[in-house]
Amino acid sequence: MISRLREKGAGDLLKCIQCGSCTSSCIVNTVYESFNPRRIIGSIVRFNKLPEQDPWLCSSCSKCVERCPQRVNPMSIIMALRMINYEDGNAFPSRVVEFVEQIKKSGLIFPLSKESNEKRRLLGLSELKIDEEGLNEVRKILSEAGF
Ligand code: SF4
Ligand code: SF4
Repeated sequence: MISRLREKGAGDLLKCIQCGSCTSSCIVNTVYESFNPRRIIGSIVRFNKLPEQDPWLCSSCSKCVERCPQRVNPMSIIMALRMINYEDGNAFPSRVVEFVEQIKKSGLIFPLSKESNEKRRLLGLSELKIDEEGLNEVRKILSEAGF
């Protein structure tokens, strides 16, 4: 498992000292206590198999990368786990599929509504419009990624 993760760009798990700095700085862990980067790494090193935690919960914020004293790069391990999950034929969680469908509609990660533009106007921001050319590019990328 470790060599498979390395092939996918994962940092060096064997340098992990299980200090927990990654978990204590993880914004997802503050909401979902069960998502725990330290435990993800610990279970891979100890049991040499895919951990049961859902790698799709990671928000890619990079805080764990900044805080790790061993430069393990926990986020890279979680991204590699996603790739392995995909390669092994595991379906994407439904929320990920919904998220991608939303992006395909407008190129945005949230539905564009009159209310959101009204809030922008009150904040002195310009009206948000769909950029059709950019949207087509995004759709092309998603299509090549299998969506
Ligand atoms: S911060 Fe780094 S060394 Fe500490 S538990 Fe997380 S990955 Fe391991
Ligand atoms: S990159 Fe992922 S695992 Fe790391 S702190 Fe952010 S949400 Fe947590």
